[in-house]
Amino acid sequence: MDFDLLATEPPTTTGRTPEEVLHKVFGYESFRPLQGEAVRELVNGGDVLVLMPTGGGKSLCYQVPALVRSGTAVVISPLIALMQDQVSALRELGVNAAFLNSTMDMMEARDTENALLTGELDLLYCAPERLIQPRTRALLQDCRLALFAIDEAHCVSQWGHDFRSDYLELSMLAREFPGVPRIALTATADERTRKEIAERLSLTEAKHFIGGFDRPNIQYRIAPKTSANRQLLDFIKSEHDGDSGIVYCMSRNKVDTVARQLQDKGFTALPYHAGLPAPERARNQERFLREDGVIVVATIAFGMGIDKPDVRFVAHLDLPKSLEAYYQETGRAGRDGKPSTAWMVYGLQDVIKLRQMLEGSQGNEHFKRVERQKLDAMLGLCEVTTCRRKVLLRYFGDHLEEPCGNCDTCLNPPKTWDGTVAVQKALSCVFRTGQRFGVTYLIDVLRGVENERIIRQGHNRVSTFGIGQDLSAAEWKTVFRQLVANGFLRADPEGFGSLQLTESCRPLLRGERKTELRLDPVQTKAAKRSGITRRRPTTENIADPAGWEALRARRKELADQQGVPPYVIFHDATLMEMLERKPQNLDELSTINGVGAAKLDKYGEAFLEVVRCISVR
Ligand code: ADP
Ligand code: ZN
Repeated sequence: MDFDLLATEPPTTTGRTPEEVLHKVFGYESFRPLQGEAVRELVNGGDVLVLMPTGGGKSLCYQVPALVRSGTAVVISPLIALMQDQVSALRELGVNAAFLNSTMDMMEARDTENALLTGELDLLYCAPERLIQPRTRALLQDCRLALFAIDEAHCVSQWGHDFRSDYLELSMLAREFPGVPRIALTATADERTRKEIAERLSLTEAKHFIGGFDRPNIQYRIAPKTSANRQLLDFIKSEHDGDSGIVYCMSRNKVDTVARQLQDKGFTALPYHAGLPAPERARNQERFLREDGVIVVATIAFGMGIDKPDVRFVAHLDLPKSLEAYYQETGRAGRDGKPSTAWMVYGLQDVIKLRQMLEGSQGNEHFKRVERQKLDAMLGLCEVTTCRRKVLLRYFGDHLEEPCGNCDTCLNPPKTWDGTVAVQKALSCVFRTGQRFGVTYLIDVLRGVENERIIRQGHNRVSTFGIGQDLSAAEWKTVFRQLVANGFLRADPEGFGSLQLTESCRPLLRGERKTELRLDPVQTKAAKRSGITRRRPTTENIADPAGWEALRARRKELADQQGVPPYVIFHDATLMEMLERKPQNLDELSTINGVGAAKLDKYGEAFLEVVRCISVR
């Protein structure tokens, strides 16, 4: 009897183990810890919720089960722009993948649907609005399905900023496809959002796999702004010459200017902001993805859905509004796990500008209070004198035992100084001059500059005139910056940056509280040379730069032939390993991480040829 049942019921798996698929198809040696567990759970038919940071390796959590279980895996992804690349990458691995979304015409969609019905497809990527159409649902009912993967699952949360109403309807999957296991994945979800995801997607029985938020390969650095453009140029030249990177600026104007300046210095720098014509935007994004060493200078309009693995740096010339934004933007660096830099310069004007924008904005008082807390947390990160990563992770509910050793405050700990008296002088100068002036004026009064404006106002006769000659103008600026950042002074939203006292400054003004101020590390020539936090440009770490270039050139050639981004052929890490180990035949090449069976077949000889040339030299 049992025998009969077995004969009619097709097997749920293809007979391959997850490890086999990992080695043969993806060319990887082993699963990362949570990955392996999530894969096993899903292969056995259980529901799964995965929370991993960007670059944590979420895709394999469903791609491997998709190939182990029989039938087609349906991947729901809101990022249509990404589908094409994801599908190309899988096809390069010899996986039969396709997508259904609104960018394709009827004929193309028909072809995909036919392939689906005949059971040819291993994976089908589908936009949520397409999936929930009755027609698609009926189609899927006629197919054998391996699993559903719901990517960017936080889009179901109404609290987040990526809410998509289509996602709410995905709860129907549980009802209409009760036997098909489901996996939801996201990189950004606090506990509340996680609960919401589980409830709204009917995943209350799902096993949770939660990775930490830390991105240890990213070095976080925040420096005081002196001359931003020079600093940026210096940073890129000395540490990331030839690397891909993103430079974020607040305004469109600034994006254009900075891009031009970088171009003038010989960099391939492309602007990206909402003011550019759509075709130019698309072209610049495309070049960033497809060419090596392109820098995109952008407003926050750029980045959603960029999963280029080898972005080596993210630079901020302006302060983001919150740590959420900062972490999301900097998180675009180093998805491949290799050393990367999140670099930012910030100064007094940034603080004043953001505070003014916030206070002058339309929102109601509750909205402003929330925004104020977010900005305070962001400024707190800038002014902290201990490990930055600890502060960041704590904000996201993660805990780091030890200082990280890979942020600027760990590498080059800032000193503090007793600023009690200086703070008293600064605050009383604001008070004596009537809370109507900006920082340049205030510093002139403190330093006893007898200019025309000061004399006209009679401020050369106030008691605070000239009492601050012990500090330089630059030093006074850091004092004022910290006072504004910490909320002791506020910038008048209508008053062109004039500074006013707040309630909280009273104890400071009376000298009742000791104030420790951050002493910004000085970028003297000597400090620059000693290179405490500086790293060598990525290419200088390579023993054989010419060999590296030769491998990259071959990769680019093949990528252009296939019409895919270079990293779809092989990742940097894979090329690097080729360069180090110099495989002499296909067998040796197959043991390199990232070289699966399909790519070995297709590109093996082409790369061996280059490696042989390198070895001879
Ligand atoms: P996420 O979607 O979580 O941001 P990805 O799935 O894109 O991350 O994976 C990030 C990078 O890590 C990719 O380059 C991927 O090929 C690589 N990767 C993932 N899992 C493994 C593994 N087990 N071994 C080696 N590399 C891996
Ligand atoms: Zn640190």
